[in-house]
Amino acid sequence: MSKPLVVVVEDEADIQDVIAYNLKRDGYEVLTASRGDEGLSLIQAKMPDLVILDLMLPGIDGLSICQQLRADPKTKSLPIIILSAKEEEADVVIGLGFGADDYVPKPFSPRELLARVKAVLRRSSSQETVKQDQIRRGELIIDIDRHQASLRGIGIKLTATEFKLLTVLASHPGRAFSREQLLNRVVGDAVVVVDRNIDVHIRSVRKKLGDQTGLIETVRGVGYRFADQ
Ligand code: CA
Repeated sequence: MSKPLVVVVEDEADIQDVIAYNLKRDGYEVLTASRGDEGLSLIQAKMPDLVILDLMLPGIDGLSICQQLRADPKTKSLPIIILSAKEEEADVVIGLGFGADDYVPKPFSPRELLARVKAVLRRSSSQETVKQDQIRRGELIIDIDRHQASLRGIGIKLTATEFKLLTVLASHPGRAFSREQLLNRVVGDAVVVVDRNIDVHIRSVRKKLGDQTGLIETVRGVGYRFADQ
């Protein structure tokens, strides 16, 4: 499994350094930006697992970034932790209304921030693995327990990898996944050797979906998503 990627958008160099240092030491991959606009581009380009966002930033402020990420289907469920100084507390409330997952008031201890990061990541991954027996998307039904998928009641023959791929995508309609994210979810801790070329598997799933091939959409420059009907 690759390390979770965290993007830190913070203009105060020493705070940025402390956060990055502690996250890296705890096993995260970290990318940083000091300006809001740079941060937003970085997030959109890298599709991280989590974003740590300061509110007061040059370029674009943290709330606007939060708002833009939530408005975009590609990033609408991306976990965001907001950093804020005490006097910005009113903004914090708005920040949560804007869809941040958590906030950490400044000054904070690195240990406190790491605990929040862990909690938010755990929450977002448990939402993903939420026990569902069945996923129904229009005429497509995925039976998780039986490891079977069917379209209008007719079974679709999928390989284990294809089944997992379709399940991951169909669990989050409208959310874009990068090829790497899909690969991580499909391969997981399994020791089986699979073709690491996600495009090959997607092509095969699409073919098997017949006239419903459009359910899996290509997101240019990112990867794939399940159509949000
Ligand atoms: Ca700031």
